[in-house]
Amino acid sequence: MITTGIKTEFPFFVTNCDIVYLDSGATAQKPRSVLDAEMTHYIDCNAPTGRSLYSLANSATEAFEEARRRMANFIGAEDPSSVVFTSGTTMGVNIVAYAWARENLKKGDMVLSTLMEHHANLVPWQILRDERDIGLELVKISVDAVLDLDDLNDKLSTGKVKLVCVGHVSNVTATLNPVKKIIESAHRAGAVVLVDGAQSIGHMPIDVADMNADFFACSGHKMLGPMGTGILYIHPDRFDEMGVMFGGGDMISRVTPERAWFKPMPTRLEAGTQNVAGAIALAEAARWLDDFPGGLAGVEEHIRSLGDHAWERLSQFENIKLLGPGPGPDSAMSLVSFTFDHIGCPNRKRIKDMKLAINLGESGICVRSGVFCAQPLVDDHFKLDGAVRASFHVYNSFDDIDRLIEAIRDVIADNGKEV
Ligand code: PMP
Repeated sequence: MITTGIKTEFPFFVTNCDIVYLDSGATAQKPRSVLDAEMTHYIDCNAPTGRSLYSLANSATEAFEEARRRMANFIGAEDPSSVVFTSGTTMGVNIVAYAWARENLKKGDMVLSTLMEHHANLVPWQILRDERDIGLELVKISVDAVLDLDDLNDKLSTGKVKLVCVGHVSNVTATLNPVKKIIESAHRAGAVVLVDGAQSIGHMPIDVADMNADFFACSGHKMLGPMGTGILYIHPDRFDEMGVMFGGGDMISRVTPERAWFKPMPTRLEAGTQNVAGAIALAEAARWLDDFPGGLAGVEEHIRSLGDHAWERLSQFENIKLLGPGPGPDSAMSLVSFTFDHIGCPNRKRIKDMKLAINLGESGICVRSGVFCAQPLVDDHFKLDGAVRASFHVYNSFDDIDRLIEAIRDVIADNGKEV
């Protein structure tokens, strides 16, 4: 098969021309310009940033700061100092846990998370709860995994909640949480809000100023950027409340044998040598997405059309159970999770999610299976030991989804009529 259309801009698809890649919710493929940006930096001006004074080092520092400005612009942050480069969402959430929550929460305070969070936005809060004697509660969700806003407001009304940690888009159900509304309610109740933007960044326009988020954590590798990159947005109102996470070079303004004084934001949270080439390539991914026809709104529309199509076609299988709210305003439709392995399946003999994913893989269809690092949602809420997820990005087409459907049909045929 020959790679055509937008896929030709992605060297991965030129090499792997027979692959149907439906695992962008885990990590996305990279345009050639992103790979080039990373390599060009190493070839043209690789030098330490923020330290040495020769002109090449100054160029590297300027390129790093330009990447910060581009990323600020990409998410609608007014002040580039609000952007801290990280290794991904997990690190961003942990910075909030270590450098903000440990400094600002005290015994008896409450953190609210939700039942649909990725482990990255839950486990750090469980660790903090056990360490600091603070409370942790999870906001309830509906059968289809839509956040229960009444429950959120009830919990906020206790006056104890100081931090709300909520995913923008669920990595299991694509549930699109009304973060602006949630932030408004949380602020009214005196709480600050961390949004986990891992599944929304690069999939739709993001405007942290309009959202009025206190923190927005996201990963670069899910928005067509390199692995090991990401950003944490911090609202300027929070700057003075930030402690530190890692101690080391560059984040200090002065050190004596006894103590250290820390630099202002964002450098105080960027200890040690940074992934400069990665940050520059991430900024190139932002440029590439901004230049997509229709910009990020165009990206969102394309992805949603794929999700709607996948949902519609998968619904035609009698024994498949689809997870989540499905097409409409409660879902970003950026991914579709499903299972044969559910209570109510008319036949006892079921196709296990892992077996299905392996069989699809043998046909060149790359999907994710398992609990998606969201065990409370998959296991406790949906009562499943796993599911299969197809997730989409700009390079996917209706044809990719139709090939998925055909491959599922083949798996069913191979497993007999009993499924
Ligand atoms: N949150 C969500 C919703 C995610 O989907 C992911 C990645 N699957 C993460 C957090 C963690 O991102 P990373 O592994 O890039 O740190």
